[in-house]
Amino acid sequence: MSRLGVAILGSTGSIGTQTLDVISRLPDRFRVVALAARHNRELLTAQVAAFAPDLIVASDTEPIDGHRVLPTPQGLIDAVTHPDVDIVVAATSGHDAIRATWAAIEAGKTIAMANKETIVCAGDLIIPLAAEHGVDLRPVDSEHSAIWQSLMTGPRRDLARIILTASGGPFLDKTRKELAAVTVADALAHPNWSMGSKITVDSASMMNKGLEIIEAHHLFGVPYAQIDVVIHREQIIHSIVEWDDRSAIAQLSFPDMRLPIQYALTWPDRPLSPGTPLDFTRIPTMSFQQPDEDQFPLLRLARQAGIEGGTAPTVLSAADEVAVMAFLEGRIGFVDIPAIVQGTLDAHENGPVLDLEIVFAADHWARAHAASVIGTR
Ligand code: MG
Repeated sequence: MSRLGVAILGSTGSIGTQTLDVISRLPDRFRVVALAARHNRELLTAQVAAFAPDLIVASDTEPIDGHRVLPTPQGLIDAVTHPDVDIVVAATSGHDAIRATWAAIEAGKTIAMANKETIVCAGDLIIPLAAEHGVDLRPVDSEHSAIWQSLMTGPRRDLARIILTASGGPFLDKTRKELAAVTVADALAHPNWSMGSKITVDSASMMNKGLEIIEAHHLFGVPYAQIDVVIHREQIIHSIVEWDDRSAIAQLSFPDMRLPIQYALTWPDRPLSPGTPLDFTRIPTMSFQQPDEDQFPLLRLARQAGIEGGTAPTVLSAADEVAVMAFLEGRIGFVDIPAIVQGTLDAHENGPVLDLEIVFAADHWARAHAASVIGTR
């Protein structure tokens, strides 16, 4: 078996480092062709030494151990279109990442999609583009990986609904009054997964689940009315597919992002992963509950933005990012995040997503608007 070439956009982030961990355990299957990282030069240097990529991309183009470093954004395009690359792991956000994913699809590369924003904001364009080029968009997000795996068990015409599971985050049992007083440190204490700060706050506000509803709609072509969310604190079931015959098929595992990352790389194979085996006799209980959309209004706002479509999901995502950063900097409170997102959505003039420039313009507008709202508080 010849080894598959992998390009990783965002190699020093949480998904990037875990992808390299997976690859290091499967050296007969994969070879790192390109690494791209915005910051964290020290870690990038260590990764270059360990994986000897053909191409290195960073914002700082100072050579690394005598190896040439290509500048962003053009270097990202060179990385994903490199002839030796078979799979692109898209694990960075931002306009450059969306453009690079676009170029990778046009070049016919398989995409391991680890960046929600690309699908949430540009799904109307990216999904048809991938279909046109016969490109696989393989989900890396644990919930979407579970849905992807479960959807293989029946024909689409018999799909009843998708049920996304949610951990509920650290604030599940708090009242709205208590939520107004939570701190950055409280929000960053996520129960099960180890993730970046932004996604951890999104998990605490359930915005992450809202974005995942939109992501599922695009990735699997399922109407919003057929996508439900259930809180499942133990995070053993990573999402569920229900068929018309009332069979529910789910994917279960100990929570470990390296599993969905590995499956996106090795599909349809399932070689040994570093994951912990599930000992069912040691799972005392599995609980499920309905999320409260008054307690977590971003869940409702995200669903509404998804149903509205057009540039609304881009505005939702961009306003949230600005609000979350302001929260992390201690400039606003936790419950101000949904208020800022709501205010920005209300002020937004929606329109259809006809090209990437429209997405970027809506993103730019939403960031400016959210920032100005925060500035006047
Ligand atoms: Mg997820």
